[in-house]
Amino acid sequence: MAALIGLVPLWDENKDSYWMLPGYMNGILRAGGVPVMLPLTDDEEVLAQLSKQCDGFLFTGGHDIDPGLYGEEKKQTCGVCCSARDAMESRLLKMALEEDKAVLGICRGIQFLNVGLGGTLYQDIPTEVETKEEHRQKPPYDMPSHRLILEKGAPLEKLLGKEEIAVNSCHHQAVKALADGLRVMAKAPDGLVEAVYMPKKNFVWAVQWHPEFFDGKDENSNRIFEAFVGAAQKNAGQR
Ligand code: MN
Repeated sequence: MAALIGLVPLWDENKDSYWMLPGYMNGILRAGGVPVMLPLTDDEEVLAQLSKQCDGFLFTGGHDIDPGLYGEEKKQTCGVCCSARDAMESRLLKMALEEDKAVLGICRGIQFLNVGLGGTLYQDIPTEVETKEEHRQKPPYDMPSHRLILEKGAPLEKLLGKEEIAVNSCHHQAVKALADGLRVMAKAPDGLVEAVYMPKKNFVWAVQWHPEFFDGKDENSNRIFEAFVGAAQKNAGQR
């Protein structure tokens, strides 16, 4: 059986509606997995069943995380939050890690992984970080915006076999204090953390850029989806 990957849904408060970017689904499909969008719920029983039956989870991009989750006051520069996602992902991340499921976080996903494990965030890069890099590029988003320097010996460098790559970038928040359980895999030239992993887990990776916006056009991003689905596939074999 192909690996079953649960995706945290995106939420549109104006339409009171779930939505999903095709690039997430396509990335998983291209890598041979079966993506399925999850309900937006923090129900313990529902999430427990999903965390057993799915082989991997994609923590998608989206709203800013409530700074209360990392013990800080919300600044005016912090964007709109989504308490339903914060609640769901807090519980789901814990369960997914307990089950050692494959986890890939993208954008909000890297931020959530860091916060969930005890780290903190810059609430707003432009007002808190001195940088010349364009972290919030203008469309089209399938074009590179800045370089990344890959950490020698970390899994991302081993996967891609490169010292540097170019990525798109569409974020105004970023990892500040790195959580204890995480290691950095890539940084922007200004030093901001752009990719992390959990050394103690089979496959828990997260990236700050947007592989889904490249939607198949960026070989590095394709390789990340392949590594993620490949790791989930090992769980599928045990299911
Ligand atoms: Mn960036």
